[in-house]
Amino acid sequence: MEGQFVLPFFISYNMRKFLLLALISLNLGNLSAQNTTYWQQHAAYKMDVVMDVKNYQYKGKQELGYTNNSPDTLRKVYYHLFNNAFQPGSEMDARIQTIKDPDDRMVTKNKVGDRVIKESRIKSLKPNEIGYLKITNFKQDGIIAVAKTVGTILEVSLAKPIPPNSNTTFTLDFDGQLPVQIRRSGRNNVEGIELSMAQWFPKLAEFDFEGWHADPYIAREFHGVWGDFDVKITIDKDYVLGGTGYLQNQNEIGHGYQDAGVVVIYPKKTKTLTWHFIAPMVHDFAWAADKNYLHDVVKGPNDVDLHFLYKDNPKTIANWKKLEPLMVRVMDFYNKKIGDYPYKQYSFIQAGDGAMEYAMCTLMLGNGTAEGMMTSAPHELGHSWFQHVLASNESKHPWMDEGFTTYVEDFVLNEMAITKAENPFKANYAAYYNLVESGKEQPQTTHGDRYDENRTYSTSSYVKGSIFLSQLGYVIGQDNLSKTIKRYYHDFKFKHPTPNDIKRTAERVSGANLDWYLTDWTQTTNTIDYGIKEVKDNSGKTLVTLERIGRMPMPIDLKVEYTDGTTESFYIPLRMMSFEKENPNPEIKRTVLNDWAWAYPTYEFAISKAKTMIKKIIIDPSGLMADVKQANNVYEIK
Ligand SMILES: [Zn+2]
Repeated sequence: MEGQFVLPFFISYNMRKFLLLALISLNLGNLSAQNTTYWQQHAAYKMDVVMDVKNYQYKGKQELGYTNNSPDTLRKVYYHLFNNAFQPGSEMDARIQTIKDPDDRMVTKNKVGDRVIKESRIKSLKPNEIGYLKITNFKQDGIIAVAKTVGTILEVSLAKPIPPNSNTTFTLDFDGQLPVQIRRSGRNNVEGIELSMAQWFPKLAEFDFEGWHADPYIAREFHGVWGDFDVKITIDKDYVLGGTGYLQNQNEIGHGYQDAGVVVIYPKKTKTLTWHFIAPMVHDFAWAADKNYLHDVVKGPNDVDLHFLYKDNPKTIANWKKLEPLMVRVMDFYNKKIGDYPYKQYSFIQAGDGAMEYAMCTLMLGNGTAEGMMTSAPHELGHSWFQHVLASNESKHPWMDEGFTTYVEDFVLNEMAITKAENPFKANYAAYYNLVESGKEQPQTTHGDRYDENRTYSTSSYVKGSIFLSQLGYVIGQDNLSKTIKRYYHDFKFKHPTPNDIKRTAERVSGANLDWYLTDWTQTTNTIDYGIKEVKDNSGKTLVTLERIGRMPMPIDLKVEYTDGTTESFYIPLRMMSFEKENPNPEIKRTVLNDWAWAYPTYEFAISKAKTMIKKIIIDPSGLMADVKQANNVYEIK
């Protein structure tokens, strides 16, 4: 049925009028629920934390000024207590024990006969090794509120409701223990970094146009409230810290942060230092600390300070030194490709359990080769744009940040390579085809925690997500894609863009209709398969019949190579796009054919030359259209 209201003829005129009015108002009601007016909550955190480096425990006070910019009156709020995931019996533990391909970092492997038994490392954590975050003394504007810990979530029944467009202040005390390093945060990681403080504090869950996002911490990452952080960390004076935020008292702290020429001398009795950080407009705050960090500061583009904090290890110092000028170049490429990095500082910190992005910093392993670091460091830096400035909901739409980051990472690494590949995304397409072949693909609308296997999550998010953009370049043209990425950044920085926002941006830039693209690619497992069905002679001309075998539509670029060495190209617009792409290779003559509407399974067109003149016909010579069966894309006379 089409989208019109057809009223039965037997209803009286007045009744019809009434029904029409009812339908119209119902329609308006729907509109207002569809995020047509954007708003976002705001959080102003003040935290004072004391870290006990001997037992990995920390105590803190948190004051959070919360602004409810939503049209709803809030009666409850939720906080993430990520540390609680690292306890035997937690949801994270249960998931490791039941998923088919648990993360290697989170299991121990034992050989029993010829079988390898994987066991959750969380399962055997002792009380002094687990992670926890205990909340006491929760108050709202000085009045006690009921706060209940349920796994990794704190549910707070407010002392008084928060009406739309009003502020309130939450205060609480927290008592934390940093777990043995299992995933992301933890103590004494594999490379010996003492404190990886990721996802370590009581963090307010986000409430947006979809409602609360109080996701339990099972495996996947974050969606946080935009806000400002003012954090004081008191710790043994020998520790060097790196993380989110600008150090305010650099000339008291030293450790490589002091202004040029300043010699920092601690008063004699000083055992601890209090580091004071401020981070404006971020949605997370992470840090790491170690006694043996070397700390270099390198000037990046636009005067941004790039900090490098890494272990004083003779085997790896040279690699880190090599990384420094490269990352200045990478940041410069990203600035030009996406838009200027908006903060004054970024830190590459050796810590964590792999490489993971946080606001203004990454915690990454650093004992590998410089080449190895040259893929992880640019990837994590890329997340500064796709997640830490364009803060899409990473749990619900992991493809938007992992995929887009993978895209810009591959693009930039290719730009920096000595020999450039014609298609720098080729490996992504191969991985996606493998996933389709496996039959295990789940649509990208799947919540990050709900994939059957980690592998399907990764391929869907990183690889298929990156193809969303590289293939969009095929669909609307590379120039339009470049403009789309820049406009997306410009329009949605410091917000929570949704899948529709990238699609609408591409539509605004190109003028093409792309609803079908977002729907088929991200909400289904429909695949693309076009083929050359028949090539036949027709009184001196050649008739070519193409067929659409896959469910997903696509516009078609076609290249014909003739026996005399010349080439020609043809372009078949997709009717539902109402759009004609610019010739991607202006040096080759292109004929724009009639459009192809999706419902017709075949399409016929004529080439003015005889069949005997044709050497080869190729659908999509760029390889950017993710056609799952490549064999039928080529017709060749050998
Ligand atoms: Zn990533």
